[in-house]
This record gives sequence, structure tokens and C-alpha cells, in this order.
Amino acid sequence: MWIRLKEGADVRAVQGTLQGLGLWTTPVRSVSCERWSLQVAAHSAFMPPEELTGLDGVADVMAAVSSHPRIDQQAGCSITLGSARLGPGERPVLMAGPCSVESEEQIQAAAAMVAKAGATVLRGGAFKPRSSPYSFSGHGHQALQWLRAAADAHGLAVVSEVMSEAKVETVASAADLLQVGSRNMQNFALLRAVGAMGRPVLLKRGMAATVEEWLQSGEHLLNAGAANVIFCERGIQSFDPCTRNLLDLGAVALLKYVHGQPVVVDPSHAVGRRDLIPAMSRAARAAGADGLLIEAHPDPEAALSDGPQALDGVALRDVAKDLA
Ligand code: PEP
Ligand code: MN
Repeated sequence: MWIRLKEGADVRAVQGTLQGLGLWTTPVRSVSCERWSLQVAAHSAFMPPEELTGLDGVADVMAAVSSHPRIDQQAGCSITLGSARLGPGERPVLMAGPCSVESEEQIQAAAAMVAKAGATVLRGGAFKPRSSPYSFSGHGHQALQWLRAAADAHGLAVVSEVMSEAKVETVASAADLLQVGSRNMQNFALLRAVGAMGRPVLLKRGMAATVEEWLQSGEHLLNAGAANVIFCERGIQSFDPCTRNLLDLGAVALLKYVHGQPVVVDPSHAVGRRDLIPAMSRAARAAGADGLLIEAHPDPEAALSDGPQALDGVALRDVAKDLA
């Protein structure tokens, strides 16, 4: 973005005002006239151009055309999810539950456990993306019915993953928040179908996706009709397998403080081990996350998927207390 100054404007004074708003600028003098322009650095805070044109000394503002105008428009918004609101100034939202819905009994116990800990959204996979075709891949439609009933019994909202265009309506019939998983972040046909439901969407970051690609996938969802997009950082693949993925907290702060977006962190898939989840949850909150998505299971050792990264009820309550 470029900010053109009025003739005779005090360049340093305008720069000072802008710096106070979180905009870092470099002055450039026009060769053809005595006017200065300020080039705004990419790492500056997000500021709508109309708010800058009224400042003392500013003539006009030239903003590059954004690749994600609808995402820019949802900056600073709050989103209602069941009994909670997610966004600036709201209490952090805790979404928790098992990786997979395994049985009616398991998800009922999980719902009771996460509600008691203070979560307001129940997670649970009915259609599971698994690296191996021989791994448990979810109980599908039946699991969604168990999930909805368990959430209703405990006053929770539901988030669940949609894996294919064919199942969008099925998942939307049971979930308040539609999850698009990492492996599908750039499945544009799926993004269009999910967006068309007009619901809020939890968009997980692709394992090797740049923040710009992630924002543009969010734009696909809003362009197709999604009510809102919540960005979920769940770790990116790195050279080092010492944790399951590399939790990119810089991206969380960037999305929150530069792009003004609703953002949650999934520390479970990021580190892949339950002992590091409390520390990463605190770090996520400190980096600006509006909430957490955490895997929790009434009996983690018996989980059919992702047991090593699942918290039990006691550990989840401790994380919830920290968060509050
Ligand atoms: C999940 O949340 O169940 C999941 C599969 O996560 P991700 O898409 O981040 O791997
Ligand atoms: Mn999982």
C-alpha cells in the first residue's frame, strides 16, 4: 500500500501517526514534484484505506488489489458458535473431543467430559482421512447422529470434518461448524460445496501451505457463500520429526494481528503428544489465538485413532483452567 501525502505535509509527523497505528513506512519522494509518498511495509497492521485518508497530511491511499477481499472484510468479526462467541474481546473458545467418534457410549462419555471441563464445542470425526487404507476411517453417517445427540445432551455445538463433496449435506445436517481438513485445504471443488452451505467453516492449514494460499482458500469458501471462516493452525510439516508437525505460532500472530482473522490452534495434531499440549495451548493463546481445538478421549489408551495425543478429562480441565 502507498500513502500519498499533501504538498508541504510534515513527513515525519505523518510517519509517527501511522506508526502509532502499527503501520511501518518508508518515505519516497516523487521525482516530478515536491510530494512525498509513504510505502507501507508488508508486516504492518491491517488498516482499511478509508481510515487513512482522513489523517492530517494524507492526500490519498493506493492499495494493491487484495487476493482475498472477502477475507479482508471479515477482519475483526466475532462468530457465534452455539452458546459461545469467538473473536476479539471474547473469552477463548475451547473445542474438544475425540479424534474419531467410535461408538455411542464413547461420544456420550466424551461430551460429558468436555462439557465438564468448560468446552463449548464438541469435536469428533465421522469421516476420517487416514494415511493408511487399513486404518479406522470412521463410522460415517451413524457417527454423526451419535455426535449430534451427545452434543445436544450437554449443550454443546458440533464441529466435524467434511471429506468429500458427496457428504457435505450429510455432515451439515449434524454439525454447526464444518471442518475442512489439512489434506483438503486446496480441494477447491470441496471448498465450493462446503461454502455453499452458508455455514461457518473451520479451515485447517495444509501441511505445506503458505499463509497466502491458506487465506486464498478461505476466500474460496466465502466466495461460495460460507458465513465465516475460522483459520485453524495445526502445524506444518518440517524436516524434524521430533514432534508430529511444527506449530507455526508466527502464522497465528500474523493472521490475528496483521490480517485481523478469527484463528484457533490445534496443538494436538501439531505436536502429536499429550505431554506438550498444555504448554502449546498457553503459547497459542499468547500468540493471539481466539480458541483451541484439542483432542480429548474418555480412555485415551483405547482410542482407535490419535490416542497418544489425546488428553483425558483431568488434563483437559487443567488446560481449560489455564485458558480461562
Ligand atoms: C482432525 O482434526 O481430525 C484431523 C484429521 O486434522 P488435520 O486435518 O489437521 O490432520
Ligand atoms: Mn486426529
